[in-house]
Amino acid sequence: MLSLEIPQNSAFPELLKIARILVVEDEEIIRDMIVLALEEEGYEVVTVNDGTAALKLLQSSEDSILDCSFDLVILDIMLPEINGLDVCRLLRYQSNFIPILILSAKASETDRVLGLEVGADDYLTKPFSIRELIARCRAMLRRQSFQTFSHTSIYRYGEITLFAQECQVFLKGKEINLSPKEFRLLELFMNYPRRVWSREQLIEQIWGTDFLGDTKTVDVHIRWLREKLEVDPSQPEYLKTVRGFGYRFG
Ligand code: CA
Repeated sequence: MLSLEIPQNSAFPELLKIARILVVEDEEIIRDMIVLALEEEGYEVVTVNDGTAALKLLQSSEDSILDCSFDLVILDIMLPEINGLDVCRLLRYQSNFIPILILSAKASETDRVLGLEVGADDYLTKPFSIRELIARCRAMLRRQSFQTFSHTSIYRYGEITLFAQECQVFLKGKEINLSPKEFRLLELFMNYPRRVWSREQLIEQIWGTDFLGDTKTVDVHIRWLREKLEVDPSQPEYLKTVRGFGYRFG
């Protein structure tokens, strides 16, 4: 007989939680289609029509008294009042790293790059298939729950201290600036000291399975991290290369 009892240290804590998704889209037909599909998947969905309303909701969700936090935002670019790119940029500027999937009507490369540069986690161009949207949401939520549940909030190793909730990293007591991707990489490494990660595993964890770039992206980010963290980046103390396998921390 199937037991519904889940052990306390379940490896799949995301199964216990119904994800809450904010859909920011002013076109009613598209919005309704997204909501219907997400609700069919069992997600809780909240919708707003413009950037200002989205910001208001997302900023108030930082207030722990109100139980209205979100696990994911689906954000259209072309919106009344504040556009989606500015919403995204502003949230990241305020150190709000909620996963954001941007929707755009334009397929141009510049838009794509811009969407990711303002700190979005993923990007879909209209018209998109609902199945693809759901698949991307699932992947993003999986990553998010991995990041949310599997860590304590402060990590220390050597002279590095990482505050997960505050998204801050200190080296020898001095704060250092990391990009969101660098931060997530370091958080993952510090969460699993000495574990060897392949480039593909790191891509999956940090960029997602639908990431279109190649594994060199990992090497580039590791190099940047080393430049910020290591005394001698060519002789790394923290971020070590494991020849033929990938990287490990410590
Ligand atoms: Ca729109």
